[in-house]
Amino acid sequence: MDHFLYRDGALFAEDVAISEIAAAVGTPFYVYSTATLLRHFRAFDEALEGMDHLVCYAMKANSNQAVLRTLAQAGAGMDVVSGGEYRRARAAGVPGDRIVFSGVGKTRDEIRLALEGGIRQFNVESEPEMAILDAVAQELRVVAPITVRVNPDVDAKTHAKIATGKSENKFGIPIARARDVYNMAADMPGLDVIGIDVHIGSQLTDLAPYEQAYQKVAELTEVLRADGHTITRLDLGGGLGIPYERSNVDPPLPSDYGALVKRTLGHLGCEIEIEPGRLIAGNAGLMVSEVIYVKSGEGRDFLILDGAMNDLIRPAMYEAHHDIIPVIEPAPGIEPQPIDIVGPVCESGDTFAKQRPMPPLAAGDLVAFRSAGAYGAVMSSEYNSRPLIPEVLVKDDQFAVIRPRPTFDEMINRDTIPAWL
Ligand SMILES: *Cc1c(COP(=O)(O)O)cnc(C)c1O
Repeated sequence: MDHFLYRDGALFAEDVAISEIAAAVGTPFYVYSTATLLRHFRAFDEALEGMDHLVCYAMKANSNQAVLRTLAQAGAGMDVVSGGEYRRARAAGVPGDRIVFSGVGKTRDEIRLALEGGIRQFNVESEPEMAILDAVAQELRVVAPITVRVNPDVDAKTHAKIATGKSENKFGIPIARARDVYNMAADMPGLDVIGIDVHIGSQLTDLAPYEQAYQKVAELTEVLRADGHTITRLDLGGGLGIPYERSNVDPPLPSDYGALVKRTLGHLGCEIEIEPGRLIAGNAGLMVSEVIYVKSGEGRDFLILDGAMNDLIRPAMYEAHHDIIPVIEPAPGIEPQPIDIVGPVCESGDTFAKQRPMPPLAAGDLVAFRSAGAYGAVMSSEYNSRPLIPEVLVKDDQFAVIRPRPTFDEMINRDTIPAWL
């Protein structure tokens, strides 16, 4: 559930009319709901109640400072995948001991940054990374707490670009090699091995792959303990999917997921970390765009919007579906007609939906892309010299711009001209 609902025929974000925000900031823009962010965070937090746990929001889904602070104030930790994200988390007020560092390509500089600034743990993804981490920690005369990310070789049954838990993916260490790698880590004085990490993919709509992966983690925990390692923390990754299409089957709820975690891993007495991103931020955001033209083509019509693939790349990149709804609710009894919904960018891939049934719309009307709060603004670019679109946060009847739209001068003057020109 989210807090974007029609009231008397007009779409609202909590208690603020979308049209009011559009008038204030111009289109296109992203808008996020505080109540929805918090509701989703708490759903995970409550799902793990009774187990020692920390929900580490995967901030790559949406790393705006205001979003991070909202979640951090509610008690969330953060899962970061770069030095930039680490800095953003700290700037939003998250203490180092609530930050987990994931990612396959951590550099020496990023490792040093986190070791000096404070870190809950590194999720190590390869033997060479382990060696570098050990070396940097020894240089700094500290000990780095680590888990090893194991690749359990399960099929997450999701889009190929966001599946991470098959042996062919670049992520983690093959689970079959785990015992050797843990023995190697135990001999490194700069490392303190505390647990196991696993993350099998994103937008999972079925719990079965989690069940398979977590059973393997449970078995591995027993094996590693028998080998003499102290395993006290299990990081279970993120990836629970959201219902991008309202009309489709609903993915499992955080409460179902929590019950699965307790059933498969509860007996081990470990502290549990989870790293949800999409399920916290996805349905907490809309992208709002204005119709520029309605164009008649050969056998099909096009709704040309002022938002484009550079603002929301998921449809172009993952063939992703976003529900697109008019900001003014259509009158009852109006028959939707199929139409292609596109942006102005000079690529045929700049198509949000083909033959999507929509009520009649005209130039100047506003539409809202649902489920755009995760992997939306963070993946945007200025392709076609379209300035990054603003982000707005709503809380009850208040709203604030949390990232302004750059001016054209700001955009252009980021480039510099060499002396010889
Ligand atoms: C992307 C990612 C997540 C979050 O995935 P969601 O599908 O957004 O929940 C969690 N952990 C790691 C290591 C990731 O790379």
